[in-house]
Amino acid sequence: MATDKRALPDRDPAVSTLLSRSPHDLAEVMDDFGHIVRRRPQAVFRPASARDVADLMRWAAGRGLKVAARGQGHSTYGRAMAEDGIVIDMRALNVVRQVLPDRMVVDAGATWNVVLDAALVRGLTPAVLTNYLELSVGGTLAIGGIGGTTFRYGLQTDNLLSLDVVTGDGRELTCSENENSDLFDAVRAGLGQCGIMTQATLRLARAPERVRRFHLFYADLHSLTVDLRTVLADGRFDYLQGAILPGGTGVWRYQLEGVAFYDGAAVPDERSLVAGLSDQRRAAEVSDLAYIEDVRAFARLETLLRSNGQWFNPHPWLLTFLPGSSAERIAGDILDGLTDADVGPFGRITYYPVFTAAMRTPLLRLPDESIVFPFNLVRIPASDEAAQTADLIARNRLLYEHIRSAGGILYPVSAFPMSRDDWRDHFGPRWSFFSDAKRRYDPLSMLAPGYELF
Ligand SMILES: Cc1cc2nc3c(=O)[nH]c(=O)nc-3n(C[C@H](O)[C@H](O)[C@H](O)COP(=O)(O)OP(=O)(O)OC[C@H]3O[C@@H](n4cnc5c(N)ncnc54)[C@H](O)[C@@H]3O)c2cc1C
Repeated sequence: MATDKRALPDRDPAVSTLLSRSPHDLAEVMDDFGHIVRRRPQAVFRPASARDVADLMRWAAGRGLKVAARGQGHSTYGRAMAEDGIVIDMRALNVVRQVLPDRMVVDAGATWNVVLDAALVRGLTPAVLTNYLELSVGGTLAIGGIGGTTFRYGLQTDNLLSLDVVTGDGRELTCSENENSDLFDAVRAGLGQCGIMTQATLRLARAPERVRRFHLFYADLHSLTVDLRTVLADGRFDYLQGAILPGGTGVWRYQLEGVAFYDGAAVPDERSLVAGLSDQRRAAEVSDLAYIEDVRAFARLETLLRSNGQWFNPHPWLLTFLPGSSAERIAGDILDGLTDADVGPFGRITYYPVFTAAMRTPLLRLPDESIVFPFNLVRIPASDEAAQTADLIARNRLLYEHIRSAGGILYPVSAFPMSRDDWRDHFGPRWSFFSDAKRRYDPLSMLAPGYELF
């Protein structure tokens, strides 16, 4: 049972000085990276400490208000919004508190770029990084956090030693595998339903100095899948992803991305890294980069999309996991019905295998197989036309139903409406644990209303 480490009487908090109702601040939090859903809160709250967050929760409870934490607002369907409620802007809680040889204590509003900068100074890195590093620590821990090293190290939520959380009923608690473990399990990949993370202790690993990155291209989905399975099984790469890219001529390009880490002069042997693979070798792109350049590679795409305006278009993404045993068939069926326009010229369909044994976060739902494939429609439309967005959202719903009926599972960073029955189905055997935790830690059901989950 959880113990309250803050034994102060409930006081009337001075939250009002931290609340903003300025049109500019409200407009910012009424939008997100999806640019699809808009919900107007009463106010934006800017905490300077976890105590402020706890005070806000009590204050909002007394007024019957919903509350959503917002990290960087890179959700795609209003999940960090609170209609007529309060949005907590977590960006001010962004301090790296401590870096030790194996761990870092950091505020949950910090971005992964801030985490990485502080770690790299000491030759360290988080074991798992998302492709894009301008996401907040709390924002990715609320969903899981998957990256190219997940096949080996799991999710970001699997590389977490402890969390400081403010629960829905305003308690400040620390949780880990050994302390308040039910809260730890309910908050990691818990979609912000049971508490607001204010601080995280992240596991760190030694950072490689350099990487050798391979982009290998394939004639079709089958040959890509075969080689993805081969390199997953033999572990020749330290980072593995794959993607189906729009070719610009109505033809897909099938890409394996493998990265080998190295230090100093111990340059990996290129030939053995690609030995036995059936890619179109002459099309292969091989680069040698500092580790920091490699993990920040997405920033170049962001700059491009900001300059061509596509960063600001709607992003009706659909992110899922396919069962490994039928991933190629399901992906192939879906690809048959898609064209370049479904993802846009700079979009992609992420497709690669990961071992499920590495992923142990209880609320992250996965097909029950030893290998699953993230299968993500990363849609970056070239226009902001409303009819097209509505069509893509409707298609997301149909694709979700198709994938679900084939044994696939949603990664809940997706843009389409989910009913409570959908969520109950999604969490399956974990539903009763999750709803019990919700009752225990957020009894008034105030938190993260954007998921429409409870
Ligand atoms: C360009 C881009 C690339 C991406 N790449 C990856 C990737 O490689 N791997 C991957 O796994 N995901 C990826 N994502 C998805 C991303 O991880 C999620 O959308 C994540 O939730 C965004 O973080 P954020 O800080 O913007 O969160 P927000 O959008 O601000 O919030 C997301 C959810 O988390 C909740 N939340 C935020 N902060 C906290 C907190 N401190 N405590 C409790 N709940 C909180 C919010 O209430 C909301 O429900 C990507 C997204 C984008 C836009």
